[in-house]
Amino acid sequence: MPELPEVEIARRTLERWLGGSEVTGAQAERTRVFRAGGRADFDRLRGRLARADRHGKVLLVSLDSGQGFLSHLGMTGKWVRRPAGETVPYSRARLTLSDGTVVHYRDPRLFGRIEPHPADTLRALPELRALGPDPLLTPLSGRQLRDAFGATRVPIKVALLDQRRLAGLGNIHAAEALWRARLHPGRPARSLELPEWNRLATAIRRGLAFALAAEDGEEIAYVEEPGTENPFKIYAREGEPCPRCGTPIRLLRQAGRRTDLCPRCQPVRRASR
Ligand SMILES: [Zn+2]
Repeated sequence: MPELPEVEIARRTLERWLGGSEVTGAQAERTRVFRAGGRADFDRLRGRLARADRHGKVLLVSLDSGQGFLSHLGMTGKWVRRPAGETVPYSRARLTLSDGTVVHYRDPRLFGRIEPHPADTLRALPELRALGPDPLLTPLSGRQLRDAFGATRVPIKVALLDQRRLAGLGNIHAAEALWRARLHPGRPARSLELPEWNRLATAIRRGLAFALAAEDGEEIAYVEEPGTENPFKIYAREGEPCPRCGTPIRLLRQAGRRTDLCPRCQPVRRASR
């Protein structure tokens, strides 16, 4: 499932592919990727890239024609580039480029979404305005995290997934950050103290930087896909030794989702001082 690093990789590759040439044609399939409407507007996209932005897990593409679109990768979506004429399974939308290639939006499970909008309205969309700060775009501090989460008694792992408070983390990076910060995922958010928020802020930054550095291909790969290596420290490593202390990693179920944790590094109670 895409989280901030995968969407940032998608942004960088779209910037590279569209930046070098011109969109000379576009085609949208009749699928629920366009459930918000705008399929005809997508087909009319033309021009050169003005900018490609990202906030949390949302991509925003603006063309110099004044047209633009929002792209959310859902669970299995990705943008891929192929020579013209090549068939791409699950291609739901296509941008034909002047360099003889076609950029496809590929999405087997159709949870992703594309919404064409005028470029100058993209950042003001209600969906964008509802998002919390993006930890890659704004320097993330412990105080900022405490302000965003510190009033809720929701378990910190569950709270970290709330895109209105902080945009970009999903199940994987929330679990990774809590392991790096040595915090139990079940701690009520408001029980954390400032030094713990500081550790968590550092952990989130490091985890995202690590994931971005580990992505080497120009097309994103999801860890759930067969044949993809698991680059994470503890995510989906139940029973394997904790990379820090060797204790077997345990699996916790929270709000119907998995959280891997090290029972030794991430004790339920805060260590007494
Ligand atoms: Zn450990």
